[in-house]
Formats: sequence, structure tokens, C-alpha cells
Amino acid sequence: MSFTIQNALIPLASGYATVDVRIEADRIAAIAPHLEPVGTVIDGQNKLLLPGFFNAHTHSSEFWQRGMIPPYPLELWLAELYDFTLFSPEQIYLSALATAAETLLSGGTCVVDHLVLIPGQEEETIAAAARAYEEIGIRAFIGPLIQDASLTESIPSGGKLLEHQPYARTTQETLSLMERAIDRFHRPEAGIHLMLAPTGMQLCSDALFEGCVTLSDRYQLCCHTHLLETRAQQLLAQEKYGYSAVQHLKHLGFLTPHTSLAHCVWLDDADIEILSETRSTVVHNPLSNLRLGSGVAPILKYRQAGVNVTFGCDGSASNDGQDLLEAIKIGTLLHNVTDTDYRHWISPREAIEMASLGGATGLNLAEQTGSLTVGKKADLVLYDLTNLSLLPRTDPIGLLVMGRPASAVAQVWVNGQTVVAKGKVQTIDVDLLRQEIFDRSQWQTNRQSAMVQQVEAHYRSVMGLLDDES
Ligand SMILES: [Zn+2]
Repeated sequence: MSFTIQNALIPLASGYATVDVRIEADRIAAIAPHLEPVGTVIDGQNKLLLPGFFNAHTHSSEFWQRGMIPPYPLELWLAELYDFTLFSPEQIYLSALATAAETLLSGGTCVVDHLVLIPGQEEETIAAAARAYEEIGIRAFIGPLIQDASLTESIPSGGKLLEHQPYARTTQETLSLMERAIDRFHRPEAGIHLMLAPTGMQLCSDALFEGCVTLSDRYQLCCHTHLLETRAQQLLAQEKYGYSAVQHLKHLGFLTPHTSLAHCVWLDDADIEILSETRSTVVHNPLSNLRLGSGVAPILKYRQAGVNVTFGCDGSASNDGQDLLEAIKIGTLLHNVTDTDYRHWISPREAIEMASLGGATGLNLAEQTGSLTVGKKADLVLYDLTNLSLLPRTDPIGLLVMGRPASAVAQVWVNGQTVVAKGKVQTIDVDLLRQEIFDRSQWQTNRQSAMVQQVEAHYRSVMGLLDDES
């Protein structure tokens, strides 16, 4: 199928141009003013055309707990999250659809789902998420969230001898599970990619990381993990390895140009050098880092060291939404308070490039998508510049990044297929989805997490937090 977008505004190196864009099958076939229209004609008048953004780190099933976890740091927040994580594959399917819909309606055409697996129904979990993404038509990278240590091991011991439950699966069982999942679900031609995504050094053995590297080499897949999100993890890395976790992951062969690393808040200059040398990608999740008090990632240092950086929303329970434009805005502005030299601050155009080409680069797709380039996949978003939130007519990209765009996405194509038109998702019934989610949830404010109570005293003690005197 072919179509032609007429008279759309696109950014040039500086300023804008009004052009026609012809799409043939799944690719951008031509970009020029006054093209001979081929196929359906799409009116791009007073609209801005950009490459789709990447929601480069999220956990779709957290959707069911958004808005309700108290203001806790990551380690306690996780204890509460997992205390109440009892899902069915049907819920996984619904939350994947909702995550994809919110991503699409905020400018995203690709989602990286670091997918929490239902114990005992691991393959059903992956099947449910893959089905959702294929149905809605977003490009998806599914990284089943795997680990081989139990949750309490993610908190530094502080020199105490602590007892931990053994993890439910052995390392080898987990790697075999991944191999079966790759065989069953990795179908890039259908827009569904599997990736190797150990949770993070805080919950994974060297053997698990090495097994992931082997599978990644064997099947040519991307790797993904959380890296030094919190100060507790930095302390734990010192306890576990006696030196930098980044250095350790490099030794294990985990850091490569097709590895993306969520958070990267607690890295030092030597670590940054390693990311630059290994050409790994940093996924900046500013809202989650604020919500959980994790810290501010040194994003401007990464950029100055030549490290590729892109944006993610992170899971909906630590954000508590999936508005990619919001993540891009906060992730762009946040650093103006940490770095006084304004010449290094991120400009709106740089932010757009980080969100599109930066995302594609980290997923080894830069040759395929991530920019308005003839020959690349048509993963495109058309923004309505007559929308009140994008008025008046000043600099459209400036307003898109620094303003507060509301329902500004008019049309989205993924792989040349229409996914959103007239501001509405076309591929699934969003009203029905809303009804299903409404029916399967209830208003609640007073749940108590037993696991938080179990770990809180130890957490406070190792983090040097004193209880208030009463
Ligand atoms: Zn995460």
C-alpha cells in the first residue's frame, strides 16, 4: 500500500520546510516539495511530521498498580509492588495494550517492555504481551525480566549476615526459558523483538549475565538491564564486587553497541568512559528517578562523553503514567539545575533526536528507523499544529518539548501502517479497553504491605536513616 502526506512541516538542520512524503509499503520512498501524489493522500497542512519516539524502558504490568504505591525509595517500593503482583495473562494483555496506547498517543512508535513474568506462567506472560503489541501495531521489544536472586538480596547487607530465600528458578532453567521464548516469540518481521534483559546486577549472578551474552550472540539480539539506579545499588556493588558495577559488566561482555541501560544514576567519570568506549546506550527515566528519589542521572556528562542517550517512561507504578512527551520534557529540563553551563543544556531539537534516533541506535535499528530519511521504515507521527497547546505559531518543536502538548498527536504510522488517525487509536477499541480495565480494578487506598514491614528496618539502618525521636 502507498500513500502520500502532503504539505507537512518537517525540521531541517535549522528551521523548517513544507514537503510531501511518499510512503511505499513499509518505507519512506520520497521526501520533497510537490511530489506526484501516489495512493491515498493525507493532508499534512498545518501539521508537523516527526520520526516516532522510543519509550525505551517500561514495565507494562505495573500499570495495574499505578497511582497507589506510597512515596518510597526503589527498594521499599519494589517490596510493595511485588507483594501485590498477582496477575493473569489476560491482565498482562490489557496492560500491554494500555501502555502501547498511551505511548502512541504521546508520540511513540516503539516500546521496550522489561516484562515482569508471572511465576509458573512465564511463556503465557510473554505470549500475552506479544499478542497485545502485534494487535495494536506498535513496534515492541520484549525483554522478559529475569533474575536468579530473591528480592531481599538487592538491599546491601551493611556487614550483617542475612538469610535470603532461594530464587524460584535456577540460572540454567531461566536461560532455557529464554531460549524457548526467543524461538517462539522473536519475530522482527512482525514488529516483535525479544531481548535479553536481566533485572540488574543487584539480583543477577555473573552466570546469568554471561548466559545472556551467549544467547544475545547466538540469536543476534539486543541486551537491556537496569544499571545503578539507586545509591543502595552502588553500595551493594561495592559489597558484591569490591569495585564498579560498570567495570564488572564490561568484564562479563554485557556492554555493547546493542545494549541499553536503564537509569544510570550513580555512575562516576570512569564508568562514563566505559559506556562511551563500549558504545552502550543510556535510557533516561527522569520521572521514575524523581518519584523514587533515586537521584538525577548525569545526562549532560554522558552527552559530552559521546554516550548515546534516549528516554523512557519506566513502569507506570513509578511514574505514574506513560506520557512519553512528559518524560522527554522533564528529562530535558531537569539538568538545567544540575549543570550551570547553559551551553550544555539540551535543546528541544536535540531532545527530539535523542528520543527518536537515540532510541533506534540503542536497539540496533538506526539503519532502519529513527529519522525522516528516504529508505527507512515509515514509523512516523503527525502533530496537529492547530491544537491549542501547540499555539501560537512560534517554534513547533520548542513548544512540543517545552510546552504541555495535550492530545496533539493526529496520526501515527508504524511500519507504514496506520495505527492512530484523527487522534484516535484505530487498531483496537480503546473504549472497550477502558471498560475492561475499569471492571477489573477498584478504588483502594489502604492496603498494607507485609514485605515492606519486613525489610524497612534493615533498609533504614544500612542507608543511615534515623527514626524520628518521639
Ligand atoms: Zn525499570
